[in-house]
Amino acid sequence: MHGDNAVRPFLIGSTWTTGEGQPFESINPATGQRNALIGSASKADVDRAVRTAKAAQASPEWRQMLPHKRAAILHRIADLIEAHAEELADAQMRQNGKLRHECVAQAAGGAAAYRYFASICETMPSEVAPSRGDHLAMVMYEPYGVVAAITPWNSPLTLESQKVAAALAAGNAVVLKPSEFTPTISLSVAALALEAGLPPGILNVVTGLGLETGSALVAHPDVRLISFTGGTATGKAIAREAAGRMAAVALELGGKSPHIVFADADLDKALQGVLHGVFSSSGQSCIAGTRLFVERGIYDDFVGRLADATKALRVGPPDEPASQVAPLSSFVHRDKVESMVGMAREDGATVLAGGCRPDDARLSNGAYFLPTILGNVANSARICQQEVFGPVLCVMPFDDEDDLVAQANDTLFGLAAGVWTRDFPKAWRVARAVEAGTVWINTYKTLSVSVPFGGFKESGTGREKGFHGIRTYQEAKTVMVGL
Ligand code: NAD
Repeated sequence: MHGDNAVRPFLIGSTWTTGEGQPFESINPATGQRNALIGSASKADVDRAVRTAKAAQASPEWRQMLPHKRAAILHRIADLIEAHAEELADAQMRQNGKLRHECVAQAAGGAAAYRYFASICETMPSEVAPSRGDHLAMVMYEPYGVVAAITPWNSPLTLESQKVAAALAAGNAVVLKPSEFTPTISLSVAALALEAGLPPGILNVVTGLGLETGSALVAHPDVRLISFTGGTATGKAIAREAAGRMAAVALELGGKSPHIVFADADLDKALQGVLHGVFSSSGQSCIAGTRLFVERGIYDDFVGRLADATKALRVGPPDEPASQVAPLSSFVHRDKVESMVGMAREDGATVLAGGCRPDDARLSNGAYFLPTILGNVANSARICQQEVFGPVLCVMPFDDEDDLVAQANDTLFGLAAGVWTRDFPKAWRVARAVEAGTVWINTYKTLSVSVPFGGFKESGTGREKGFHGIRTYQEAKTVMVGL
C-alpha cells in the first residue's frame, strides 16, 4: 500500500497518473483506518482514457492479433494473478472487509475467468448460415470497440476479471472504473496485464466516484458498450444515458432471491445451504437468498433451528480464520443496513436473531452488524421487496406449490432462487416456474465461470460467463458472398 499521503495513480495507456480530480480515501471497514489515498479521474482524464483505448483497439497490433496469441496473453495474465493471489486477496480484504479465505478463493476465480475466456478466444467459431439463394452467408462476431466496465465493491477480484477477460477475448479495449470502495484490485491487475504483454491502451483503469468518473465514462460518445454491475437504480440511470446514443448495455443488477425449503428436504443440508446462502460475504452478495420460504408444517422447527445456528455464527475480523461473518464493506453501508432493519421493525417484523451491532469491544471500530433473521413479515413488506445487501434474512411460511411460486415471483427482481426437496419432479416444476437467471436445486450459491449468469426482470439484461459471456462483448455481422 502507498504511504499515508502518497496518492495512488491510475492507468491510461502505459502512463500512471494521479489525475485532475480530488483524491479520495480508501478505508479499511474492519478497523476504520485509512488504506490509501486514491487518484480521481476527471472528465478530461476519462476522455483521454477512452481516446487512448479507441486508438489502441483500432491498431493492427490488437485488431489483427491472431486468436492464439491473444489467448496466450490472457493465460499469462491468469498466471500472474495466481502468482500474486495472496497480495490481491489481502488488498481486497482490506478494502471491502470480506473474509480472507473468501478473498483467496476469489483470486483463484479471477484467474480462472482469464483462462476460460482465453480458451474461448482460441476456439471460438464463426458460422456459415443456411443459404436461401446463390450466395454464401457467413456470420462473424466483431468487437464493439471501446467497452466501459463499471463494477461494485463486493467482489472485484471475480466480477472485474469476468468482464475484462471476456471483453479482451472478444477483441475490445476496456476502460474500467472500479468501485470507489475497492479501487486498487483493478490497478494491480492492470499492471499485471501490462507485464503479461497486453498492448498499452487495451486495458485502462480510471478510479473515482460514480457521479463524477463513472458518469463521464457512461456519457462518452466513443464508448460503444457499457458493462455494468451494481445497483438497479444506477443500472437504470446508465441505461437511460446509453439509450440516447444507442450504446449497448449489459447490466448485472440487484436481487432479492427466494430460497425455498419443502418439508421433504434433507433439512440438515437445507439449513446449512440457507445459512451459507444468505450470510456468506456478510450478505453482501447479489445472489444472496434473502427471502426464505419454508413449508408450513416444518416452519416453526426449521426456523427455530436456523435462528440458533445464526446466533452461533462467529462474527469477527476478516483475517482471523475462526471468523464466519466479517464486517460490512463500509460504515455508510452498515448504517444503511441498520436503518433498513429499523424500518422493518416499524413495519411489525420480529427479530429472531441479530438485529443490531455486536456487543464486542474488540469489534467496535469496525463496520460490523450481526447476522439477522426477521419473522412476522409478509412478502409485500418493504423489507421483503427492497434489496438490503447485508446479512438480513426474511422468513415466511408457505402452504402449497402454487402459493409458493406466486410469492417467490412477487418481486421486481429475478436474479437467483434455491429449492430444497427430495421430490425431483417438484424441484423441476418450481425451477421452471421461478423467474430467475439461476436456480439451484439442493445447493445454493454454486458458481461456475462456464455457465451464463445474469438476471430476469429488474435484475438486469445480458449474460456474463459461459459461452454466452463472449457474445455479450461482440456484435454479429453477416457477410454474404455472391456465387
Ligand atoms: P452502485 O450501483 O452504487 O455502484 C456500482 C458502480 O457504479 C460503482 O463503481 C459506482 O462508483 C458506479 N456508479 C454509481 N453511480 C454511477 C453513475 N451515475 N454513473 C456511472 N457509474 C456510477 O452499487 P454498489 O453499492 O457498488 O454495489 C452493490 C450493488 O451491486 C447491489 O445492488 C448488488 O446487488 C449489485 N451487484 C450485482 C451483481 C450481479 O452480478 N447481478 C453482482 C454484485 C453486485
